[in-house]
Amino acid sequence: MLYINCPHCGMRSQNEFSYGGDASVKRPELNKEVSDQEWDNFVYNRKSLRGKHLELWQHISGCRQWIKVERDTATHEIFRTFKADEEFA
Ligand SMILES: [Zn+2]
Repeated sequence: MLYINCPHCGMRSQNEFSYGGDASVKRPELNKEVSDQEWDNFVYNRKSLRGKHLELWQHISGCRQWIKVERDTATHEIFRTFKADEEFA
């Protein structure tokens, strides 16, 4: 079982969280001409990376906040977590 360190609540079981997808996807700018391919990439197309990946998770059975988790998709090791509005560095 995974344990995720919620930046708001502390260490909790993965069962309290819901996976929210790739956290590295950027929405196209507002009021800008966007091609169908750019929308497809934003809405549907995802890389299936093996290794370190930045993900969104929601602490659904806790504070209900969205957080970012840096996790290895092969080993499930979690390197760090931080608030959704914090920038990944
Ligand atoms: Zn929490």
